[in-house]
Amino acid sequence: MPVRSEPITSLLTAALLAAPAASCDTGADARRAPAARPADAPYVVVLGIGQDGGYPQAGTKPGDAWAPERRRHATSIAVVDPRAGERWLFEATPDFRDQLHALDRVAPVEGVPGLAGVLLTHAHVGHYAGLIHLGHEVIAARAVPVYAMPRMREFLSANGPWDQLVRFGNIELRTLDDGVGIALNDRIRVTPFRVPHRDEYSETVGFRIQGPRRTV
Ligand SMILES: [Zn+2]
Repeated sequence: MPVRSEPITSLLTAALLAAPAASCDTGADARRAPAARPADAPYVVVLGIGQDGGYPQAGTKPGDAWAPERRRHATSIAVVDPRAGERWLFEATPDFRDQLHALDRVAPVEGVPGLAGVLLTHAHVGHYAGLIHLGHEVIAARAVPVYAMPRMREFLSANGPWDQLVRFGNIELRTLDDGVGIALNDRIRVTPFRVPHRDEYSETVGFRIQGPRRTV
């Protein structure tokens, strides 16, 4: 599968080798050249590296920060298994629309949204607000699995507009447990682990993603 980097300036792919940490902190770009990999090996697509509000944030006055090459989407990656034709999104950011489009260009699949699952780290807006695009007003998705820790699951189930996604069957919540791995398919496993953060509405986790040969 070719790597397409030109006009998708903030999008890179790499074998299951390394990835940026999901974070609410604004950090320097962690760019990595595409690594050689077998054609059917699972790989990671970096869809964004910015803080919750992206870069530049809303309200930034006109200036160099708005130059197209400096703009960054909020932190998100996708894991793609080309053999299975499956894709998983890590984080549903406020930039979900652009990020799903970028993923469709790099790793097209049948169906909309074409996601085998969405995995969420925590309930800060940069990490789940994009779920709105799966709802009745936009994609009206059917039963997209959304993996979340117990408090995050409760948060989505008990508060609008997220609870409507659950009631309408746009998303199907699946509970994660700290340190307990789950199989995404027969060759990709994900293990959530708690990390210290401001846990106002939910736990915060990182993810260990294990492919057949490499781990992120
Ligand atoms: Zn956060």
